Amino acid sequence: MRTEQPKTIRLSEYKVPAYLVDTVDLRFELFDDGARVHSTLSVRLNPESSEVSAPLALDGDSLKLEKVALNGKELAAGDYEETGKQLVIAKVPDQFELTVVTWLEPQNNTRLEGLYRSSGMFCTQCEAEGFRCITYFPDRPDVMARYRTRIEADKSACPVLLSNGNDVDQGDLENGRHFVTWEDPFPKPSYLFALVAGDLVEKQDTFTTCSGRDIDLRIFVEPRNATKCEHAMDSLKRAMRWDEEVYGREYDLDIFMIVAVDDFNMGAMENKGLNIFNSSCVLASQETATDLAFQRIESIVAHEYFHNWSGNRVTCRDWFQLSLKEGFTVFRDSTFSADVGSPTVKRIENVTLLRTAQFAEDAGPMAHPIRPASYMEITNFYTLTIYEKGAEVVRMIHTLLGPELFRKGSDLYFERHDGQAVTTDDFVKAMEDASGRDLTQFRLWYEQAGTPVLKVSDEYDAEQGVYRLTIQQSIPDTPGQTDKKPQHIPFALGLLGAVVKPCRLFLKAVRMLRARQPSACLS
Ligand SMILES: [Zn+2]
Repeated sequence: MRTEQPKTIRLSEYKVPAYLVDTVDLRFELFDDGARVHSTLSVRLNPESSEVSAPLALDGDSLKLEKVALNGKELAAGDYEETGKQLVIAKVPDQFELTVVTWLEPQNNTRLEGLYRSSGMFCTQCEAEGFRCITYFPDRPDVMARYRTRIEADKSACPVLLSNGNDVDQGDLENGRHFVTWEDPFPKPSYLFALVAGDLVEKQDTFTTCSGRDIDLRIFVEPRNATKCEHAMDSLKRAMRWDEEVYGREYDLDIFMIVAVDDFNMGAMENKGLNIFNSSCVLASQETATDLAFQRIESIVAHEYFHNWSGNRVTCRDWFQLSLKEGFTVFRDSTFSADVGSPTVKRIENVTLLRTAQFAEDAGPMAHPIRPASYMEITNFYTLTIYEKGAEVVRMIHTLLGPELFRKGSDLYFERHDGQAVTTDDFVKAMEDASGRDLTQFRLWYEQAGTPVLKVSDEYDAEQGVYRLTIQQSIPDTPGQTDKKPQHIPFALGLLGAVVKPCRLFLKAVRMLRARQPSACLS
């Protein structure tokens, strides 16, 4: 029986969190029959929140609560309320330390959200709302904190213990157990938390960044896959160099890790410093994989790596902004693939996917803008519209601004919002501020669903030597949206003379659509 009514969450009802978390100190005790999670949060009232003396409400899901302590003093059952989906403490000071101990059963976690155990390995998946299945926490991306994570487990069953950041301590414990402590100096949202514990082998390499720092690169796989990581490692190094050259983005931690396991249910996940992949997205050997498989691995490895800046250092304020990180990062990985491979082939691939699958989505009952106005279940919004159309919208900004101004805009975006959780509007604003262009009307791309249709007609007045091009735009109705406004679209055109020579264009009247000088001409 289902007793819960799904609730609609609306962008218009967004409120800043009442409390912020500065640091998260985690200790995981991993056993065969379960896991105990000790979490200590340093919490303070959000100065930007208007809610005075609001209760502290933490998200939780399928947790067995063992202990709650406030500033070191254990709370009695009457001091808090546990509803199954929330832990609520009615009265808290403006600043305090909260300790929560929970018991989980990763071996029985078949939803594969939060911490789960499969084929003897512990693994996490926290995007979008999996962290609440690990401990009680304000599980929303605009709560960014610094994490320190200590993992304890049996040394023979789990010789490898990984989490985000740099490893700062390790040692042996009693009864054949051991521990490793990880510290991530960069504030991150809870959806980027990761833990992996198991019997894995590693391939190691190094990368020297543009400022001369040596980064330790490691790919962890199950022992039988040890020989199949070379291509992924080469792809990673290419992606790291490309992001420095094209976006000026240098890697920040001392170590970058990829874990590839058969039992990871998502394709790949960009957890800070510890990307987790399904094996099929990383492993390839010359004997069995096709060229296409090699290209796919290169592009996925690059995509997850690029998130380190577009998604992790600058993250989403709320899940309505999913395209902020996904649209931009798909655009980045597709430009990368074009640069290191064939730009034409890559473009045909992108456009084919759009025309066959995304246009259909945009014309169907599930049509939604790249920044939806409401959702019931965010996991339903990992769509082609958010990813692929989102990437094309960023590509249009790139086309309108040109590569230099676009780079100025992305530099400003990263500089202005480093360590923040922001919106698609902040992204567009940075592009406007850096370029001096007005993108007010362009913003409609984020609000309106549906594929615009252009009707193009032309006439040439040979006597006057005037060529007239008329372009009409319409956007079909989609569920909940009618009578849409025209969207700002870059439109490339070129004219050829009788001797197949490009003519110079003098544009007289351009409304709504911004014309661009011919990009390719015959000569
Ligand atoms: Zn992504």
